[in-house]
Amino acid sequence: MLQSRSFIATLACALSLGLASAKAAPALQIYFIDVEGGGATLVVTPTGESMLIDSGNAPPNAERDTKRISAAMQLAGLKKLDYLFITHYDTDHAGGVATLAKMTGIGKFVDHGDMDTAWFQNPNYDERWKNYLAASSGKRMIVKPGDGVPLKGVRVQVVSANGEVLSKPINGGGGPNPYCDNAEQKEPDKSENSRSAGLLLTYGKFKFLDVGDRSGLPCEQAGHGESLPGDASWFLAQRVGSAASRDGDSAPGCRRQQRSAEGIRWSGEI
Ligand SMILES: [Zn+2]
Repeated sequence: MLQSRSFIATLACALSLGLASAKAAPALQIYFIDVEGGGATLVVTPTGESMLIDSGNAPPNAERDTKRISAAMQLAGLKKLDYLFITHYDTDHAGGVATLAKMTGIGKFVDHGDMDTAWFQNPNYDERWKNYLAASSGKRMIVKPGDGVPLKGVRVQVVSANGEVLSKPINGGGGPNPYCDNAEQKEPDKSENSRSAGLLLTYGKFKFLDVGDRSGLPCEQAGHGESLPGDASWFLAQRVGSAASRDGDSAPGCRRQQRSAEGIRWSGEI
């Protein structure tokens, strides 16, 4: 039941991009897989390359989430993943890596750099980190803001990683972020969330922004109250759209827009 519900969401997303059929369409496909918190978003480009953004949860839910990812891959006609992009190492984003790696081949693992093992608030971090290193051995690609991921058929630009954000605007960004005008003043977030690797995916006029659980970039920080990644058509709300991720300081200076050039409405939280 949960699985079928997740695919209703998937098809709705595909159709909103104007795709007639997920299998046959030679176009960009994005599958938002329901892993009940955290993230697992499958991108399949018009040239057939694939990137999964986050792996779902750790055991005992890893098997459930991996089955759902597998089902989405089957729907997309994939036999392997070209890239696994891990935004950060929290259990609901990176916990499923070991189980996933047993299920399918993964070409490259993209991440923000090593886990901060001093962060004791992250339960079972040591086991998760060992599992990640074992699965990604010889295949890791550590990114920093401004880097690209060579996923063929689209453009993927890294907008945040390891606590850093872009040093200069991209995608027409750089203007003031009106959502910072009345933003609540918060203490900087030092958790693993703040280290999230974020990406801007561009396909023609369509822009998809996913910053993992990036948080803790208060608007009062000098130079960061502006829209460094520019406008996005879709913004995947981080931390399940919780209060901690709102108030305009959520994305790395993202200026949210209500309507894209294609007329896709962003409702605030997906
Ligand atoms: Zn997180």
